[in-house]
This record gives sequence, C-alpha cells and structure tokens, in this order.
Amino acid sequence: MLLELNDVSVSYGRIEALHGISLTVNEGEVVALIGANGAGKTTTMRAISGTRALSGGRITFDGEDISKLRADLRVVRGLCQSPEGRQIFPGMTVLENLDMGAYTRRDHAGIAADLEKVLELFPRLRERRKQAGGTLSGGEQQMLAVGRALMSRPKLLLLDEPSMGLAPMIIQQIFDIIVEINQQGTTVLLVEQNAQQALSRAHRAYVLETGRIVKEGTGQDLLHDPSIKEAYLGVA
Ligand code: ATP
Repeated sequence: MLLELNDVSVSYGRIEALHGISLTVNEGEVVALIGANGAGKTTTMRAISGTRALSGGRITFDGEDISKLRADLRVVRGLCQSPEGRQIFPGMTVLENLDMGAYTRRDHAGIAADLEKVLELFPRLRERRKQAGGTLSGGEQQMLAVGRALMSRPKLLLLDEPSMGLAPMIIQQIFDIIVEINQQGTTVLLVEQNAQQALSRAHRAYVLETGRIVKEGTGQDLLHDPSIKEAYLGVA
C-alpha cells in the first residue's frame, strides 16, 4: 500500500469539511475520487499534499506517517500534486516551467531523461517549449502542469480536476496520457467531477458526498451502479 488515509478530518475554522474519511491507494493503481461540487475533493487533496492541516486521523505514505510532515518535504518523498486551476508560471517558458518541477532533484542525467520523456508524452509542449506558459491554451497549460509534476519523478501523482474547463477532445487526450503515465510506472490519485471519464479509466474509485465516503469499488462496478449513474453520470 502506497497511501493510506485513516479516519481523516479537516476543518475550515469551525466548519468540518471532511468527517473522517479512509481510503487507500496501492502501488501501480489509478484511483479516482469523484463527487459533486463542495463534496470535499479538493480538501482531500490538500490534506494529502500537506497544504491543509488535519483536525483528526492519520495519513501514511510509503510506510511513513506523514500526517504532520511539511508539504515541501512530502514532495521530496515522492508525493506530488498538479494543482487545480493549473497554476503554471505564465512568464516562464514551457521548458523553464518543466525545470521548476525538478527543483528538489540533483541528478542532472535523470532530469534530462525525464524531460525527454515528458516531451515525448506531450508533443505539443515540445513544439511550444520556448513559448511563455501564459500564452498556451487551457488544454496545453493543463498538460504543462501535469508534465511539471512528472518532472519531480513522483511515486504518487495527485491530479486535481485534470479535465476542468477543457473541451471533450482534449479531456480524452489528457486521460489517455494519464493512463500512459500509469502504465510507465507512476501511481495516480485523481479527483474529478467528470465521473464518466474518471470511472472508465480508474482501477478503483471512491465516491465522496458532503465530506464522507459513501461508496467504493472498481471503476467498472461504479460505472454500472444505478445510483451512481443517476447521481453522477446523468443517466436515470
Ligand atoms: P469543488 O469541485 O467545487 O472544488 P470539492 O469537492 O473540491 O468541490 P472542497 O473545495 O473540498 O469541495 O470543499 C468542501 C467544503 O469545504 C465545502 O463546503 C466548501 O465550502 C468548504 N471550503 C473549502 N475551502 C474552504 C475555505 N478555504 N474556507 C472555508 N470553507 C471552505
């Protein structure tokens, strides 16, 4: 088991947003967390990446309790998030943005090899490597954010709403690449409102409702579950 959340709670002031959630991610998996607006998906990601403190429970990563570990030290241990809203550096070129992803690393040969891999995964980024990040389209910026996260060579890649705001064809491409990244050996935990795509691509998934996990199963099981169909897939 690579990641384990055990009875994790998170509060914003007096308001508890996560009420004791438990989930696991095994090495080699793509795991999806789906849920409606405000269900607590982003808060779960913040708890895992360390940008929001826990009010209860425990998070274990790679055999170590990281519940109180600083966010930057979690990155060094191999936990890297590509944030919602992309947050690339708009004034820096594509290559400079990718370099920033490797800031915790010192193995120059490894960094160069990974850069080549990322540019192979995303030919669009290679074409635009000298362009400022801020001039890219939404889909390209999303690719850049994912590419930058990969440059830290994560053991676990956290993706927050990779399809947000993108056209259907670009969403397909992004998910194709997520599957490819996984097949090349990176474990992925992704949060998505696009339940159809997330469930059809994930090995396993969890459904979050108002701060609680209400269902879990294989992607395929949940995709065919009548209550999930009705609530998240727009099929009655
Ligand atoms: P979305 O898809 O809209 O981002 P989400 O599932 O990611 O939704 P969260 O953003 O995690 O949900 O929000 C969970 C709950 O916590 C919501 O009730 C939200 O209003 C509340 N919340 C989130 N961020 C804050 C904050 N900074 N301060 C106070 N409450 C917050």
